[in-house]
Amino acid sequence: MKVYSCCGHDTVVKRIYCPSCGTPDLQELEVSDHGTIYSFTKIHVPPVEFAEIAPYNVVLVQLIDTTAKVTGRLMGEVSIGDSVELDRVEAGAYIYKKV
Ligand SMILES: [Zn+2]
Repeated sequence: MKVYSCCGHDTVVKRIYCPSCGTPDLQELEVSDHGTIYSFTKIHVPPVEFAEIAPYNVVLVQLIDTTAKVTGRLMGEVSIGDSVELDRVEAGAYIYKKV
């Protein structure tokens, strides 16, 4: 997956300008889809559009080889520190699976 880098900070969100120094020249880097669970929340009462898949986890994944973290969804049981990889992108959402 792609991350955008400047001033020692990486983010998966593409920005026009670096929020720190204001440069428009953010470096685009290709990094691994793998990461570890940094934090998560199990959603039991979801928004209407996700009612059919509840309960599910909203996970914050610390990606490998970058400072960037990405928010995604993961089904099943999960613990902080679990190794995960990107399974697919669904309607703009990052869907992770354990590895
Ligand atoms: Zn910068």
